[in-house]
Amino acid sequence: MIKRNLDVVWNYEEDSEIGPERWHLLCDRFKPGGEYPLQSPIHLQKNASLILPEKEQLTIHYQKQKFTEKEFKNTIHFVPFDQLSHCVYQGEKYFLTDIHFHMPSEHILDDYQAPLEFHLVHTSKKQVNLVLGVLFQTARLTNQICHDHGDEIWDFDHHIQWFNPDIFLPVQQSYFHYVGSLTTPPTIGPIQWFVFDEIGQMNQNFIDLFKNELLLKNNRPIQALNGRKIYYHQAE
Ligand SMILES: [Zn+2]
Repeated sequence: MIKRNLDVVWNYEEDSEIGPERWHLLCDRFKPGGEYPLQSPIHLQKNASLILPEKEQLTIHYQKQKFTEKEFKNTIHFVPFDQLSHCVYQGEKYFLTDIHFHMPSEHILDDYQAPLEFHLVHTSKKQVNLVLGVLFQTARLTNQICHDHGDEIWDFDHHIQWFNPDIFLPVQQSYFHYVGSLTTPPTIGPIQWFVFDEIGQMNQNFIDLFKNELLLKNNRPIQALNGRKIYYHQAE
């Protein structure tokens, strides 16, 4: 019998019956993740990385657009209304479909785990996913989310926001690239991961807006490399 299991509950607690070690056992839909060897997140180390070939480099084409914010899968998501902002990777367009975050960071960069990691999720016409990861420290900043362009609209009462998603991107765009998985159930892949090297500064006041809806911790533990090659691109 195939179980209908779109509402299967899971969490991030280590010793829980529904924690990360057991996600793939919770239902049929989560099962393939347990069999997919290239899992995320991983520990990214610059001195163990290869140079990313030029034809594999990413170009980012973001623009100001309309989002709605909602809570699901143990975090807050900003979901664009239209497919406008996109990346190009190996000649293929990947449109931005979701922005969400994890606390603390899921990826570890050269032994450093940041307090926060944003994921900008993209999807191609062929339904392949590409995710940009950006790690942040948090600080009390006056009147800005990260590096502020000044013309965003953040209407949390009506759950409508207008912003250019590049506000989440670092200035210095050096990044790691590897092939991995979703970090939430069903943890399937392949996902083209690009994780920026620069640690951003996020306004703690912005994160506090969601405090009542969030768990204290929503990061999946580090996964084995399983022989994977990690690439690094140094911005010029
Ligand atoms: Zn994520």
